[in-house]
Amino acid sequence: MDFQLTGDQRELIAATEKLCTQLLPLAKEAHEGEKRGDFAPLQKLRKAMAENGLLGLNMPTEYGGMGLPLLDTLLLIQTIQKVDSTMGGLTHRTSTGAIGAILELGTDEQKAQYVTGVARGDIGVSIGITEPNAGSAATAMTTRARIEGDEVVITGQKIFISAAKAHHYTMLYCRFGTTGRASDIGAVIVPHDAPGLTIGNGSENMAGERQYELFFDDCRIPKANILAEGNAFGKLISVYNSERLGSISRMLGSAQASFEFALQYVQEREQFGRQLADFQGLQWILAEMKVKLEAAQLLTYRAAANTAIGLPSPLETSVAKVYVAQAAKEICDDAIQLLGGYGYMTEYPVEARYREVRGGSIYGGTLQIHKNMIAGHLLKRKNSQWAKGKE
Ligand SMILES: Cc1cc2nc3c(=O)[nH]c(=O)nc-3n(C[C@H](O)[C@H](O)[C@H](O)COP(=O)(O)OP(=O)(O)OC[C@H]3O[C@@H](n4cnc5c(N)ncnc54)[C@H](O)[C@@H]3O)c2cc1C
Repeated sequence: MDFQLTGDQRELIAATEKLCTQLLPLAKEAHEGEKRGDFAPLQKLRKAMAENGLLGLNMPTEYGGMGLPLLDTLLLIQTIQKVDSTMGGLTHRTSTGAIGAILELGTDEQKAQYVTGVARGDIGVSIGITEPNAGSAATAMTTRARIEGDEVVITGQKIFISAAKAHHYTMLYCRFGTTGRASDIGAVIVPHDAPGLTIGNGSENMAGERQYELFFDDCRIPKANILAEGNAFGKLISVYNSERLGSISRMLGSAQASFEFALQYVQEREQFGRQLADFQGLQWILAEMKVKLEAAQLLTYRAAANTAIGLPSPLETSVAKVYVAQAAKEICDDAIQLLGGYGYMTEYPVEARYREVRGGSIYGGTLQIHKNMIAGHLLKRKNSQWAKGKE
């Protein structure tokens, strides 16, 4: 067990922070463009990030990725998110996002097309799991795929799909069989120009990102776009634990940014003729923020470091998720408090950081669902949440 980052990791973090700071103006344009429904600036940012080696961090080099281990990937997602959330989102989604399932379950042709496309900054892939009546109970999904000759015909609806309009494809969880059991669930890769697919106008979430509804009305895609034809929910969720760690690292980045800003601020702002940093009550808040940040990082890094022997452990991922999501909210909230009224104003960066981390208690499995999973592991029970007769 080694709790020190290596010299190479430290250098990588410093170099990445510098690169991202240079790309900041492009990232701001991309964020503003997305709000207007203009995705050209985002595509420009995506290309610039790819050229600077900031996408596909853990994707194999043979597909144009950077070939980094998961731990280094998460360290950089945290760093990039600390500089800017739009860039953090792009690195996460092209490294630990839906693309991970294509790398793990895809054919050689699918990997060559999608992993390479994502790493080069040509395309983006969103993830479609949630439905209006299948949120935490994801296996209640009804979106159906049936094979007709060389095509797959999809009917159904997804909701809350992050940044779908900013992406070119969705890796869609759907049901191939009609038994109603989880064993029907597989996945397909849907191009956003597929006939029969309509992407709604979406809703803006509290972090200022858009989430979209996807409507499938006999949507037709080639059979070659099947990723897993049923019996794949367990496998998909195992890969999804990397996605969870990627989004956890984004929360770490936002919390770290809040902490660093507040630490600086209390040493500059004066009240009662003294620095805010002179008041012991505020020093204790800073100390608690530091303890939470370090504990949150260690749980995340442990889950990532242990993937040398395979996919992330579900238990270690859930433990990290529950702690980090809670700690990140508290750290970001404390930062607002340390800045007083200025912390609450949109001109200062800390209120946005709170809004960024708040969703982490909901997406990727809510905190309650992760606690159910931890308890199931502790008690060695399946811990099914389903009403009798509905399993
Ligand atoms: C920022 C953000 C981004 C997202 N991005 C995507 C995306 O890209 N793709 C995608 O497919 N989905 C996405 N989602 C959707 C997300 O996965 C769901 O919102 C989440 O799974 C919860 O489902 P729900 O909203 O239907 O809530 P519900 O399942 O209705 O839950 C409501 C409340 O009940 C609690 N609850 C439910 N069941 C239990 C139980 N058994 N025990 C204890 N408590 C329970 C929950 O914890 C929650 O507090 C995103 C959501 C957010 C907020």
